[in-house]
Amino acid sequence: LTTPDQTESQRRLLEELEAVRLLIPSGVPGVYGRSATFERIVAGVDHLITRQAAATTDVRVTFPPVMPRRDLERIGYLSSFPHLAGSIFSFEGEEEDALEMEQRAVVGEDWSEFQRRTDLVLVPAACYPAYPAVAGWGPLAPGGVTLDLGGSYVFRNEPSLDPARMQIFRQREMVRFGEPEVVAEWRDTWASLAVELLRPLGLDAAVDVASDPFFGRAGRLLARSQRSQELKFEVQAPIASDEPTAIASFNYHQEHFSSVYDITLASGERAHTACLGFGLERISLALIAAHGTNVEAWPAAVREQLFTSAPGT
Ligand code: ZN
Repeated sequence: LTTPDQTESQRRLLEELEAVRLLIPSGVPGVYGRSATFERIVAGVDHLITRQAAATTDVRVTFPPVMPRRDLERIGYLSSFPHLAGSIFSFEGEEEDALEMEQRAVVGEDWSEFQRRTDLVLVPAACYPAYPAVAGWGPLAPGGVTLDLGGSYVFRNEPSLDPARMQIFRQREMVRFGEPEVVAEWRDTWASLAVELLRPLGLDAAVDVASDPFFGRAGRLLARSQRSQELKFEVQAPIASDEPTAIASFNYHQEHFSSVYDITLASGERAHTACLGFGLERISLALIAAHGTNVEAWPAAVREQLFTSAPGT
């Protein structure tokens, strides 16, 4: 049965993915297990990007999928995307509270009053932990710095039956810090590099100006200004929606993060930042949508690029 947020072709793709066990349903929309074959596709895509990025990145760092709540508060996420944030709460109370919580939980009643917020939230965008980290390294050297964050799980509270809209998925991000012209040039270079990387995989990929799903009425204004200033680009490709789906995105933050964390250039001026994120699951799904669920039957040229020199294959 199709539901309001699921098109016929999304339903068909999800059914097929589950039937061949590329994705394993959890019972909650948008949260899946991944088969070894699915992870092999993800690793192949990750490896392709790593090879392309290696020449242009300075530092490789990895962050866990949780971050300090205070950082989410400071960057204004709760004003722009209150509907997407996931906060970590945990039990606080006496023994009788624990008993009462357990009794309610067992029968499926609401036990949230026994939970208190912790110092942690789930990471909603893979680059967020990078800004306070780089700020802590002191003023940037001339030319700035480029971080490769690898693939990292992020959470968005948006349950959906569209297999391309997961609640927890991996963004493979790079972040550029530096002078405004250096950052703008990096962003433009990667916009064409990303398409050159994805098209030979048989994906009908194209770059377009985009905007974020900001919350509420003020959010619509933010989205319009983001579009008119061309601060966000997306690489889009067909998956299972009527419109092509974003499989990579470029965000130019100008001084937003450097003003929050005081990230400066050697001159003392504020640095600019931009990030580039590839959606590892979405690129994998776009490949499956283009070439089918039987990876052994994919075109030889595509298999060669993804699997030949990938580690462990
Ligand atoms: Zn980012």
